[in-house]
Amino acid sequence: MLRDQTQLRFKQVMDLRRLALPPLTRHAERELRHAAQRCLTCRSKTRCDLMLEAKHTEELRLFCPNTGYIERLRRGGVDVR
Ligand code: SF4
Repeated sequence: MLRDQTQLRFKQVMDLRRLALPPLTRHAERELRHAAQRCLTCRSKTRCDLMLEAKHTEELRLFCPNTGYIERLRRGGVDVR
């Protein structure tokens, strides 16, 4: 699944917001796997595509299940234990 992360919408959000993944420690990898799973099973993909197409990543905060994860990446606070 991690190899396919570049296909996931939350990776597109990260790219638009110029966020990078932390070094993939075991904990960070587990967090990434959970984020990927949330993205794969998200019920807001159509709405997400509209936001991504318009590059309105800020509005994604209103409904994206990965908002917390993306926000932690933005703050550089993904726990890398
Ligand atoms: S809204 Fe859903 S599909 Fe879009 S990035 Fe967030 S979790 Fe992924």
